[in-house]
Amino acid sequence: MYQAYFRCFRGCPGQWPLYEVIYTCPTCGGLLEVAHDVEALRNRSAAAWMRLFGERSGTTHFPYGSGVWRYKEWVIPDLVDENVVSTFEGNTNLFWASRLGEQIGVPDLWVKQSGNSHTGSFKDLGMTVLVSVVKQMMAQGSTVKAVACASTGDTSAALASYGAAAGIPTIVFLPQGKVSSAQLIQPIANGATVLALDTDFDGCMRVVKEVTKDNSIYLANSMNSLRIEGQKTVGIEIIQQFDWEVPDWFVIPVGNLGNISALAKGLLLLKELGIIDRLPRLVAAQAAHANPFYQSYQQEFTHKVARSAHKTLASAIQIGDPVSYEKAVKAVQQFDGIVEEATEHELADAAARADLTGLYTCPHTGVALAALLKLVARGVVKSHEKVVVISTAHGLKFTSFKVGYHDDELEEVEAHHANPPIYLPADVDVVKKALEKRLS
Ligand SMILES: *Cc1c(COP(=O)(O)O)cnc(C)c1O
Ligand SMILES: [Zn+2]
Repeated sequence: MYQAYFRCFRGCPGQWPLYEVIYTCPTCGGLLEVAHDVEALRNRSAAAWMRLFGERSGTTHFPYGSGVWRYKEWVIPDLVDENVVSTFEGNTNLFWASRLGEQIGVPDLWVKQSGNSHTGSFKDLGMTVLVSVVKQMMAQGSTVKAVACASTGDTSAALASYGAAAGIPTIVFLPQGKVSSAQLIQPIANGATVLALDTDFDGCMRVVKEVTKDNSIYLANSMNSLRIEGQKTVGIEIIQQFDWEVPDWFVIPVGNLGNISALAKGLLLLKELGIIDRLPRLVAAQAAHANPFYQSYQQEFTHKVARSAHKTLASAIQIGDPVSYEKAVKAVQQFDGIVEEATEHELADAAARADLTGLYTCPHTGVALAALLKLVARGVVKSHEKVVVISTAHGLKFTSFKVGYHDDELEEVEAHHANPPIYLPADVDVVKKALEKRLS
């Protein structure tokens, strides 16, 4: 009874089935979005939706225990349950970072641990949707033979894993030498065809677009708005975790700008359906070395800035020509948003401070935390406000970032919080002396 279809994000006429191979508007070439029949969704009251999602949370009734498919009617309502490819994604902890919050002047600070998931990043939220739709397309006799993506590391890991779980061949395009070794080995282990190209992410994106043109290979990048539908559940899940109360701020690291668009889309749907009555403010955080969106923001979004992105520790957001630019501009405008940037030093130091309070943050989460620190210092984020930082990947994927920091060997970074191991002989007296010094 609920329906969803593709339509042009810019508003050109036309609608297309979600099971058709189409990524951009045939009229204007802009991005598509998944549109839902909101009137039909309103047939169920806000209270009834909240009750339904509450009942499904933690259930073993496949696939409704997943943090994405719990909201299935709002995601892909007509997908057949047997075609869902799920790893119980979502359901990630909302960590109350009270100690870090107190140190930085916002005690009501929460970190959404989206990286604590099957492949270690939030990309699982979108990939479960995309791969499930492809599975249904194939079951219905589509000519699609494989799924491909360009990636800064986490999209390819998610695609390879979900593809392997479904038995669908995958092809991933990675910028050579620009992803962490954990991110490189993930799709290799999952049996994807891994193509490491001598270029950057934007170069990989250009190649994959050409390769997928004949429609036998399906494109899994976030210009494919199916992924946005899955990723939009992160904000919905956070609000559910707060018993349907709205925090004041969301801070999120951004690169290709799909995830912030998704966050905004989920929150807007909550408002349209009367589950929340106000919107939070959004902060998009960029690495200063790859900051086209920040530059556009500074010019009040009069035009899109595309630049070549320089090397940054936050490698998953080293993107110079963000695909979801228009969607993200709209999100920032609708949510009274701010775009902030962080230097290499700021992001590494913020990540280290967070780790000292029990977290284990990836460099991108460091970018978001560093942006938050700046906004608190400027008095934009106030001490009584409730703030959610979206952590996008697991720190364990970025071991050389951590080791480099604690060895104080990162370029442009002064490791104020380095905590290197103490190398000692196996001598009790020497050990005791060292401990006395440390604990005094
Ligand atoms: C993909 C990714 C991002 C950025 O998300 P976009 O949708 O490209 O803006 C941030 N952090 C991590 C760890 C990622 O993998
Ligand atoms: Zn259009």
